[in-house]
Amino acid sequence: MSWKDRLPQVRGRLLRDEPLAPFTWFRVGGPAEVVFMPADEADLADFLGTLDAGVPVTPIGVGSNLLVRDGGVEGVVVRLGRGFSEIEPLEASGLRAGAAVPDAVLARKAAEAGVAGLEFYAGIPGTVGGAVVMNAGCYGSETTEVLASARVMDRAGAVREMGHADLGYTYRHSVLHEADLIVLGATFRGVPGDPVAIKARMAEITARRETTQPIREKTGGSTFKNPPGHSSWKLVDEAGWRGRPFSLSGGQGAMFSPLHANFLINTGDATAADLEGLGEAVRADVRAKLGVQLDWEIKRIGRP
Ligand SMILES: Cc1cc2nc3c(=O)[nH]c(=O)nc-3n(C[C@H](O)[C@H](O)[C@H](O)COP(=O)(O)OP(=O)(O)OC[C@H]3O[C@@H](n4cnc5c(N)ncnc54)[C@H](O)[C@@H]3O)c2cc1C
Repeated sequence: MSWKDRLPQVRGRLLRDEPLAPFTWFRVGGPAEVVFMPADEADLADFLGTLDAGVPVTPIGVGSNLLVRDGGVEGVVVRLGRGFSEIEPLEASGLRAGAAVPDAVLARKAAEAGVAGLEFYAGIPGTVGGAVVMNAGCYGSETTEVLASARVMDRAGAVREMGHADLGYTYRHSVLHEADLIVLGATFRGVPGDPVAIKARMAEITARRETTQPIREKTGGSTFKNPPGHSSWKLVDEAGWRGRPFSLSGGQGAMFSPLHANFLINTGDATAADLEGLGEAVRADVRAKLGVQLDWEIKRIGRP
């Protein structure tokens, strides 16, 4: 009997051999052995407490920064939903939000509560969980500036609070990447502000994105981090990869967006191997032609 036949009873949903492509913006990738959507925190804790210790667990948000490889993901993929989507204002310009709250909702609720400083989240299509892990940010602001603490669960189901200093934030990175922890929610702190002015800044951000980013494509957002002193989109462009099709599988549609050259897009039936292969080809080319090292911002998970 394998671990999949000994799965604990849960109140949420357990899906076996579930295709992950619909869970990601790129719409590519193989299945997860198991997808678990817990009903709430207690359901997740009970599940992790009884799951075989050797089974890998991978949390995902809404897959807006995620490339799932074609061979699928070993173990359990945890996708947080309704039971993790509460959001409430706190005293002193604070907000507490569950990990499944969309960043845009966080921005809107902050504006309504007169909390300034979180309006940049209006431009990011992920969830609070993904933002806390990725140190998501845009237009000169990032999560580290407004995050007070994160509530996390370990692989055994134990919950603890991590303060800002414990999260080791650097550009698009936190210690959570390597920590085998699931973010359950977070507390944010802004400064007092006028809701009308905050909403006006949010509208500016969303309008700017409409014209500069391919937000209606199958994409993963910024593909590469900006190397110190450089913009990744300029490097991709200079090396000649803007809008240039690429394929390993015979599938069509993998390219760097003509609109924003650091956005990898899938305009057709490209596979994960096509998209990752293109990214690697561009990294090698930029290194050879321009002498600059590009590092992936998009998280790639699973088996080739
Ligand atoms: C059109 C577009 C525009 C974008 N613009 C921006 C931008 O301006 N700035 C920016 O920073 N990003 C941007 N992104 C990328 C992306 O939206 C962010 O990185 C976002 O924070 C990812 O959140 P997610 O919920 O989609 O996480 P996912 O993509 O599902 O996961 C990302 C990583 O976080 C981990 N993770 C997710 N949830 C949890 C959790 N609850 N607990 C533990 N780990 C978790 C995953 O394991 C994975 O490693 C953009 C993406 C798109 C498609």
